[in-house]
Amino acid sequence: PVLVNQIAAGEVIERPASVVKELIENSLDAGATRIEVTLEQGGTQLIRVHDDGHGMTGDSLTLALTPHATSKITESEDLESIGTLGFRGEALASIASVARVRITSRPAEQPDADATTIRSEGGSESPPQPCAAPGGTTIEIRDLFFNVPARRKFLRTPGTEYGHCHDAFVRTAMAHPHVHWTLHHNTRTALDLPAASREDRCLAILGNDLAEGLLTFDSPAPPHGDVSVWGLAGMPDIARPTARQQYVYVNGRPVRDRNLGHAIREAYRGLLANDRHPVVIVMVDLPADKVDVNVHPTKAEVRFHEPSAVHGAVLSTIRQRLLGTDL
Ligand code: ADP
Ligand code: MG
Repeated sequence: PVLVNQIAAGEVIERPASVVKELIENSLDAGATRIEVTLEQGGTQLIRVHDDGHGMTGDSLTLALTPHATSKITESEDLESIGTLGFRGEALASIASVARVRITSRPAEQPDADATTIRSEGGSESPPQPCAAPGGTTIEIRDLFFNVPARRKFLRTPGTEYGHCHDAFVRTAMAHPHVHWTLHHNTRTALDLPAASREDRCLAILGNDLAEGLLTFDSPAPPHGDVSVWGLAGMPDIARPTARQQYVYVNGRPVRDRNLGHAIREAYRGLLANDRHPVVIVMVDLPADKVDVNVHPTKAEVRFHEPSAVHGAVLSTIRQRLLGTDL
C-alpha cells in the first residue's frame, strides 16, 4: 500500500506548496478560525500547520492516514454537491507515504490532557500516544520526498519552493477572510492577516499601494441566473507583464479555468496592450450542483454545467464596471 500511496502522491503532491494547500484546506474543512503555517527552507525541511478547528480523536487520527478514509462524504450522492474542500481522502495518506509526519490533535470539547499524537515515516505508522495539547490540530511534515530520491532531486531552491508555498497560501487566504492567517518562513513572519472583510483581505494581499487602481465589481441584481460574480478589477494602467496577479475562484476554491481566463481577457478587450495582463480577483459563486469539482485530483480544474452562462456573467460584470469608469 505504501507504493500505491506514493503513486497517488505523484498526482497530488508535486512539491511543498501542494502539501501546504492540502493541509490548509483540511484546516478550513475543520472549521478553523486561526491557521498558522510555519515553513523551513521553503517547506523542503519542514511544513507545520496549526489550526483551532474541531480536531480529531485518537481513533480518527489513525484513520486520517488511511487512504480513502475521508470523514467528509458519507453517501455517494454527496459527490454531486460537495461543500468541503477535501473529499477524496487521499492527501494525508499520500503525503505520509513520502515524508515524515507527526499529527497532534484534540477535539475542541475534550480537556487539554486528552490530545493524541501519531507519527509516521514513509508510510509506516507508530501507534498513537496520549499527550496534552491545545484544541485543534497541528500537522508537521518533515523532509518531503526523503524516500523518493527521484522526486527530491526535482525540488528547486528553497527560495523558489517558498515562492510557490507563499502563492498557495495567499490564494487560499484570499477566499477565507474570516480566518486569521499567519505565515512564517525560517525565523521571519512573512504574513499576518487578521480576520477582515472580503475586500480588505484582497487589498491586504495585493498590497495597499494598488488600492487606488482597483475597482470593486459585483454582479448586478438580479444576478445572471444563479451565478454571482464579485471581485476587484485593476485599471489598465496597473496591468502587469504576467498573469500572476490574477486570482480566480469558484465557490471559494482557487481554480485555473480557460473559460474564465477568456472571459477576463474579453472584459479588457481594447483596453490593454497585447502583452499586458490585468490585476484581477474574480470570485464566482453558483449552486454546488451546477459545477463539477471532481475532475482532477488537485481540484484546480472545474467543469461548469453551463459554461457559457458563467462566461457571460464574468465578462459582462467586469466589462460594465470598466466601461462605467473614466479609464
Ligand atoms: P479529505 O480532506 O479528502 O477528507 P485528507 O487525506 O486530506 O482527506 O484528510 C483525511 C481526514 O483527516 C479528513 O477527512 C479529516 O477527517 C481528517 N483531518 C485532516 N486534517 C484535519 C484537521 N486539520 N482537522 C481535523 N481533521 C482533519
Ligand atoms: Mg483534505
